Amino acid sequence: MNDFAREVQLRSRENFNLCYQCKKCTAGCPTAEFMEIKPNEIIRHVQYGNKEKLLTSEAIWLCVACETCGERCPNDIKISRIASALRRMAIEEKVEIADKTGYSFNTSFVESIKKYGRVHETTFLISYKLKTKDFFSEAAMNDMKTGIKLFMRGKLPFFPKKIKDINSIKNIFKNNAPEI
Ligand code: SF4
Ligand code: SF4
Repeated sequence: MNDFAREVQLRSRENFNLCYQCKKCTAGCPTAEFMEIKPNEIIRHVQYGNKEKLLTSEAIWLCVACETCGERCPNDIKISRIASALRRMAIEEKVEIADKTGYSFNTSFVESIKKYGRVHETTFLISYKLKTKDFFSEAAMNDMKTGIKLFMRGKLPFFPKKIKDINSIKNIFKNNAPEI
């Protein structure tokens, strides 16, 4: 096994060498059509040691960790864990992130969980918008309209509330939970 594949296996704890390219993962993946490297191809590139291709791909940021691939895979391979390992490696190695929106979404989401033990939608959305610096596009305007509607209906709490046992969440992250 090449060094890159070994590192990915260590981080993801997935035995991707069992993959025999049946493509059941890709057939069921809800975001595969937007990925330039499909889930089954991610496995192949890891096995071939194609580090740069994967770390600079959009595909690793488009995995939404729905676990459909893991459920469908005859070998129980969870590609979400592999994508998560690849995202962390991309950040650590300071490569140019291909999907900055995905990066901003992921980091804002995890920051909220770490701080409050749950997602506080209002601060999450503010953080996401500040990171993407997307305030005036059509999508941003639509987001704002939806946000105002939700706020008016009391669905977006203004002040965040921490869960009671926030220390258990902190411990999960201390014990090496994937941060992104
Ligand atoms: S479903 Fe499993 S065995 Fe089939 S291609 Fe995907 S990862 Fe490989
Ligand atoms: S966990 Fe990721 S790769 Fe697997 S099906 Fe869901 S989005 Fe696709």
